[in-house]
Amino acid sequence: MQASLKSTIHPVRLWLGESRSRLPWRARWTFVGLPPRCYFCDAEGDLGLIDLCAECFTALPWTAEPDRYASTFSALAYRDPIDDALKALKYRGDRRAARLFGGLLAAAARNLATPDALIPMPLHPDRVCSRGFNQSLLIAKHTGDWLRRPVRSNWITRLRATPSQTGLHAAERRRNVEGAFVVSSNIQKEIESLGVRRVALIDDVVTTGATLDAARHALLEAGVADVQRWAVARAMLAKSTIPT
Ligand SMILES: [Zn+2]
Repeated sequence: MQASLKSTIHPVRLWLGESRSRLPWRARWTFVGLPPRCYFCDAEGDLGLIDLCAECFTALPWTAEPDRYASTFSALAYRDPIDDALKALKYRGDRRAARLFGGLLAAAARNLATPDALIPMPLHPDRVCSRGFNQSLLIAKHTGDWLRRPVRSNWITRLRATPSQTGLHAAERRRNVEGAFVVSSNIQKEIESLGVRRVALIDDVVTTGATLDAARHALLEAGVADVQRWAVARAMLAKSTIPT
């Protein structure tokens, strides 16, 4: 293993082990009588209150330690075994995957500037109705538990049910989501009265970051000074969508 990667994941592992007491009781309670088991190989969990074994933890496709001022932060690469687990969460509502990834995202982002609140990337209400859940909200709740930050799922609204970004190249992705998000005037007042300066948008997968950027823009316009963009995993654009 590269020395740089080792120095990235060792502190993550330590933090997960030492931070179990950070979790609120209701989160710890979910492990009572049902101790952590590795999400990937089903071995006994040995990293604290997270569903992972040490071996699978080390083998995960971690990204390097984030730059404190990086514009978009992602904890992992979107490839085996992360891709299948995130699909299980997105399409089948796998709550165990949400619990795992929420914890890993918190551990990986622990040294970034602390946000006042976490904001899951919103789905269009029609999409929430058909799917029954928002996968980013499921992840953000667990990230919020570990980092002890509030989660505000109503602070930003998706106005348009934008077509899927899959198969689009970077410029098309930007156009596709332009103006798709808004912060209502009531929420704007709430943000002002709470003195919110910094938030982190939470997403499951980031590719070009166009969707996160559009949401960030809406929050900046609403007066939030610093809008961080956090994703569990970073995917590469398919070669067929990169203009030659
Ligand atoms: Zn394992």
